[in-house]
Amino acid sequence: MAVLHTLGFPRIGAKRELKFALERYWKGESPAQELLDCAAALRARHWQLQQDAGLDYVSVNDFSLYDQVLDHARMFNLIDPRFADGQGDSALDDYFRMARGQAPSGEPTRALAMTKWFDTNYHYLAPELDQAPAPALNADKLLGEIDEARALGHRPKPVLIGPVTLLWLARGNDRLRLLEPLLACYRQLLERLAEREIDWVQIDEPILVLDLEPQWQQALRQSYGVLAEVPVKLLLASYFGALGDNLSLALALPVAGLHVDTVRGGDEYLQLAKQLAPTQILSVGIIDGRNIWKTDLNLKLEQLKPLARQLGERLWIAPSCSLLHVPVDLDQEKGLDAEQRSWLAFAVQKLNELQLLQQGLNGQGQEALLANAEALNARRNSARIHRPEVAARLGRLGSADSQRTSPYPQRHQLQQQRLQLPLLPTTTIGSFPQTEAIRKARAAWRAGRLPEAEYRAAMESEIRFCVEQQEQIGLDVLVHGEAERNDMVEYFGEQLDGYLTTGNGWVQSYGSRCVKPPVIYGDVVRPEAMTVHWATYAQSLTDKPMKGMLTGPVTMLQWAFVRDDQPRATTCRQIALALRDEVCDLEAAGIQVIQIDEPALREGLPLRQGEWQSYLQWASESFRLSASGVADDCQIHTHMCYSQFNDIIAAVASLDADVITIETSRSNMTLLGAFEEFAYPNEIGPGVYDIHSPNLPETEQMAELIRKAAARIPVQRLWINPDCGLKTRRWPEVTPALQRMVAAARQLRSELG
Ligand code: GLN
Ligand code: ZN
Repeated sequence: MAVLHTLGFPRIGAKRELKFALERYWKGESPAQELLDCAAALRARHWQLQQDAGLDYVSVNDFSLYDQVLDHARMFNLIDPRFADGQGDSALDDYFRMARGQAPSGEPTRALAMTKWFDTNYHYLAPELDQAPAPALNADKLLGEIDEARALGHRPKPVLIGPVTLLWLARGNDRLRLLEPLLACYRQLLERLAEREIDWVQIDEPILVLDLEPQWQQALRQSYGVLAEVPVKLLLASYFGALGDNLSLALALPVAGLHVDTVRGGDEYLQLAKQLAPTQILSVGIIDGRNIWKTDLNLKLEQLKPLARQLGERLWIAPSCSLLHVPVDLDQEKGLDAEQRSWLAFAVQKLNELQLLQQGLNGQGQEALLANAEALNARRNSARIHRPEVAARLGRLGSADSQRTSPYPQRHQLQQQRLQLPLLPTTTIGSFPQTEAIRKARAAWRAGRLPEAEYRAAMESEIRFCVEQQEQIGLDVLVHGEAERNDMVEYFGEQLDGYLTTGNGWVQSYGSRCVKPPVIYGDVVRPEAMTVHWATYAQSLTDKPMKGMLTGPVTMLQWAFVRDDQPRATTCRQIALALRDEVCDLEAAGIQVIQIDEPALREGLPLRQGEWQSYLQWASESFRLSASGVADDCQIHTHMCYSQFNDIIAAVASLDADVITIETSRSNMTLLGAFEEFAYPNEIGPGVYDIHSPNLPETEQMAELIRKAAARIPVQRLWINPDCGLKTRRWPEVTPALQRMVAAARQLRSELG
């Protein structure tokens, strides 16, 4: 019998119970005990689900009140004292302060930096190690949860982030200097676990799927050499990719078992199965922990059967990675029809799939396997998924379709003749404050409480207000404000065929923040124009150019659950074609400037550098496909919200957008270096103030940033704009900030003009 387990389970709760409990506690609306009770109830429920699905172990310590990396930093005392000055009323408040930078009194303090967990949309808190004290062990949380699981009658398998990955994820110079003392703490911890008669510990080293420098590879060898001395069995887990050049390294580590991702890792597991030591176990991550499709169980069984024969009880079966990255329970989805539901599996359903695989290996569960085959077949043949006209149109594309008619310098002249913009034109990134009134109107309309005509009128009055404000402020290129959009991806997903929106498919992004990615299940078709009405209404209110506003194909792909039955590049091109039609419709309706946002371009980069080029190539081509249907005098903008461009600047230039707006204010324009060195050929709007901060920027401060920018980029190619959209701000913040921004631009026009 193979052993069943999961690397982790989502902790937020099927109804986001943890989110709401956290937010109540933070607002002071409930005592700590209520939050802790909610957390314990969720753990109990999730363990029970694992037990009900016949898993041999329940995962313990995958739960976190905020973030598992922060939990590990606390467990090993890797806490810079500047982040934990003991001002909190309790350890719990200290913890949240490190996470959120909010003291219990509401005063801001420093928070740890947040970054993406590998290539997922989960964000962890990066411990800062430069001033961290000596590592020391405090295992209360972990040990407490083990006791809790046992008291409920479960067999716990603690889950740890491994020491090398933990240091790798942290920030600071020479982090490996802490390895030895940290290893002493891990050792101590494992000894405590052994005393408690824990037999298996899952220890995650996902950095094994990355391009690793020799000192990090050496750190892995050193670490597991030390930890092997403790009498507890270690299951060393890697996920999110193949081991690749780290394969023989992983095989040489003295651990009791390896877990590998067979969904993303290709055939590598076969080689591992052959080369394992005779006592080592192999955990095959065979169910996709990163996506929401029903597993092809019969196909997976064909993979598992020879392994089961070869390994017997040394075969373990699991999802590819923690289920943290998928929504909790498909049974919550009352809004989907039966066919759509038959395609999907969320975390709870994936646990059941493990059980079916086990039964299949034992020659049981034939009926369920048959039903699974039928469901997969039905999906393959569904008329809702395959739209022959889309494939035909993709097939007809030539290279000219992803290229503007003329090169940028000619386009620039034609655009300038038409738009007559001043030197240093001013604009914004798209959204304006999402007021309570806007949200209420949208919610009422969605619930069917507000008739369509009244909803339109409400949005139009918001647009009118927004346009008036911008005219009074004196901006040069206006926007309609995006009042009608709940979310920049969901808004378009809801209007495109091939996308479905779940009611409750929440996935934790960070802390209490969750996202609900739409699902791309079929060929993407735009049944009708999506933004033309709002854009043309807005344009009718002003003589200034009104910027049309779209979410780009890469971002539409990246922030969704994507179909697994064709290459992502193909799906991206399909989205690009739908957007291209929208771009052309906007142009035909008289819109002269169109922005296609691509904030997710960079985060789509594969984990291994060797795969970057092919990704960047299709990503860039998709963007150009969406943008190239218009005449030369139509100005295409794009926007990206981060500040790391050095390694992708060539790809960014290859998008050939006439104007790119980016985030630069917090880096004090230093990131413009990348654009300067590369001699970025088109126009660029480096953000001159940080919209994430409620502080009002000073005119002179922005003027100084513009001077810095003008020292690096020819002033004729510079735009003036904030760092990002303004939807999270309030009007009393936005109006004066933009007034000052326009004043700064005017000042610089006379200085530099
Ligand atoms: N146009 C969007 C907005 O202003 C862009 C947001 C983003 O790039 N994340 O809200
Ligand atoms: Zn942005």
